[in-house]
Amino acid sequence: MAKKGRVFSGARPTGRQHLGNYLGAIKNYVALQEDYECVYCIVDIHALTTVETTADLKQNTYEMALDWLAAGIRPEESILFVQSHVPQVMELHTLLSMVTQLGKLTDLPTFKEKVRQQPDNINYGLVGYPVLMTADIVLYKTDVVPVGIDQAPHIEFAREIVRSFNYRFNTKVLIEPQAKHTEVLKVLGIDGKEKMGKSLNNHIEIAAAPEETQQRVMQMVTDPARVKRTDPGNPDVCNVYTMHKLFSSPDEIEMVNRDCRTAALGCVDCKKLYAKNLNKHLEPFRAKRAELASKTGYVEEVLNDGAKRACAIAEKTMEEVREAIQLP
Ligand code: ADP
Repeated sequence: MAKKGRVFSGARPTGRQHLGNYLGAIKNYVALQEDYECVYCIVDIHALTTVETTADLKQNTYEMALDWLAAGIRPEESILFVQSHVPQVMELHTLLSMVTQLGKLTDLPTFKEKVRQQPDNINYGLVGYPVLMTADIVLYKTDVVPVGIDQAPHIEFAREIVRSFNYRFNTKVLIEPQAKHTEVLKVLGIDGKEKMGKSLNNHIEIAAAPEETQQRVMQMVTDPARVKRTDPGNPDVCNVYTMHKLFSSPDEIEMVNRDCRTAALGCVDCKKLYAKNLNKHLEPFRAKRAELASKTGYVEEVLNDGAKRACAIAEKTMEEVREAIQLP
């Protein structure tokens, strides 16, 4: 069947993926493969704007790619690669920077937030982040970028840069990407309050062993008003119930919703049931991950092949770009 167009998405190499990444991004990446030609990029250069050490960069890239592949990214169809393996993106970044106003970059809320977060390392790369992101997207003649509502301004910014470039050089070589709004689910961490993330250590790794998963689930914070075992609970404010709705059967969801309110079901048993269902759901993923990990050099091969295919598209775009600018 003919595909609807090309999708691009990038994520920083954060290593082993957690449930937030899985439910908020990876599952969608996998699903998009049905209708789109997908280009998925591990953006290691972007990571350099914030990381304190690069010692883990290779391992984190490997672990993340392995998780994506085990979760269902199909490398025969989709292009999975590492940003720095396609150096053309750096060239396009420089060229796009000539049509991007500095004031606009320093006014962006994301830049201001980074300045607050790392006042001692306001590097030049941070300012140019959205320009490099635009280069990532347009280098592959992307039609569609899947984004959550909060990221929509980034795509609008990319479209502006494309329009400036095309206008300035009187060309149509660069395509304005469209944002494809996906309903992003915000997965809360085991603290039941903050968004799940590695930096807060409130995450559950999808590749963890079943026992470790169970241990993490048992630490999950439930309805704070429920202190004693005999207190009735309120599933509507309980993150464990939210997760049941994603991983348990309709009967179980109904039972939890009913029996928690009457204290017929305690939090310990409720979490045990969730842990069991979560582990069951992740079983095929974990088996596939182990299988792929046992094939020496498999992930590296996929990434090398992805880089080759990405480079072919990138070089063609760059030839058109250089010609449009009339570079000698
Ligand atoms: P990046 O900064 O590259 O987006 P992250 O690790 O923060 O790296 O996120 C990678 C992807 O996983 C993003 O699409 C992000 O929206 C998604 N994600 C991360 N944490 C969560 C979460 N707790 N709930 C839902 N989605 C999440």
